[in-house]
Order: sequence, then C-alpha cells, then structure tokens
Amino acid sequence: MSSTTDFLRAHIRTVPDWPAPGVQFRDITPLLQDPAVFRVLIDAFVQRYREAAMRVDVVAGLDARGFILGSVVAYQLGVGFVPIRKKGKLPFTTVEETYELEYGSATVELHTDAVKGGDRVLLMDDLIATGGTMMAGKKLLEKLGAHVTEGAAIVDLPELGGSARLRASGMPLFTLLDFA
Ligand code: AMP
Repeated sequence: MSSTTDFLRAHIRTVPDWPAPGVQFRDITPLLQDPAVFRVLIDAFVQRYREAAMRVDVVAGLDARGFILGSVVAYQLGVGFVPIRKKGKLPFTTVEETYELEYGSATVELHTDAVKGGDRVLLMDDLIATGGTMMAGKKLLEKLGAHVTEGAAIVDLPELGGSARLRASGMPLFTLLDFA
C-alpha cells in the first residue's frame, strides 16, 4: 500500500450510524480542509489524467461532493466542468435518469448541451457504494453521445459490490483507497 493512500486514508473521518443506523459514513471533508492534504488529493487525480493516453475533454461531477473534486481537477487539466445534479436544480433543458436506492429511488439530470457527441468524459464522485449514482451519471452522458473514459472517486466500498458491477458493465474505474 502506497504512502499516499495511507496519508489520505488517515484524513477520512468515519462517522458511525449516520445518516441512518448501521451506516459507516466516510466523511471526506477533512481532506479538503487542510491545504497540503487537499493538494495531495487533487494531484493524485491530475497526474493520472494528464497522461496523453487518458485524454479527457470534459470532467463531469456528481452532486454534490463530485462538484468539489471535479471542478478543481477540470481546472488543473484545462478542460471544462459539467455538473450532474439531483432533479429540479438545473434551469435549462435536461436529460434525466432514475435509479433505485435502498429505500425508494433518485433522479439525476444533466443539461442537454453539457457535452457533445464523441466527448471523452471523466466522471467524478467522492465515493462508490452500490455504484448506482455513478451508473446513472454514465447513462446520462451516453444519452448525449459522450463516452465515459473512466469513473473516478476517492473511496471504494468494495463489499457493497458497486465497483465490481461498474467494471462488469465495461466502465473503467480509478479509486484512491478502499474501506473493506
Ligand atoms: P452509491 O450510488 O450507492 O454508489 O452511493 C454513492 C453516493 O452516496 C456518493 O455520492 C456518496 O457521496 C454517497 N455515499 C454512499 N454511501 C456512503 C458512505 N458510507 N459514506 C459516505 N458517502 C456515501
């Protein structure tokens, strides 16, 4: 295990039983709060996507912590950023995708002019649990003809099976650390 992984992991706060009993919430806000740690975090993504083979045209961020990461990574890569938002927040025409949660469902939206056909998109969020959110984001981008080159997150929770499902669906994934 690399020292960067350990360093970042040490700055994630685990909050038991939040927002519901039995959930171990992995709070990434301490990673953002300390400027030196924030830099290590962002650089870990930027180094990867600066490689020519990983060419990215646009970064898409998932509501809401994906906005924080995705916008800074996009800025550093010199590409644009587009937000994938929870339903009802985007003012222009949108495409939408509904997916199942443990209790009920959720809908996410993307502006119809956010990406162009053939764009190579990096899709970012803070964490992959069941993978439902990232899969919905991928489907939205594909509805507009874009190609998701990779999904990226800080944390993977492999026991929930989301990362395996996403990979099985053909989506490359990059995560910095996991909590088993
Ligand atoms: P999922 O769609 O199940 O992969 O859930 C991923 C989304 O829910 C991400 O946007 C996370 O921010 C959030 N999330 C789910 N489980 C957790 C957890 N245990 N700790 C922190 N965030 C979580």
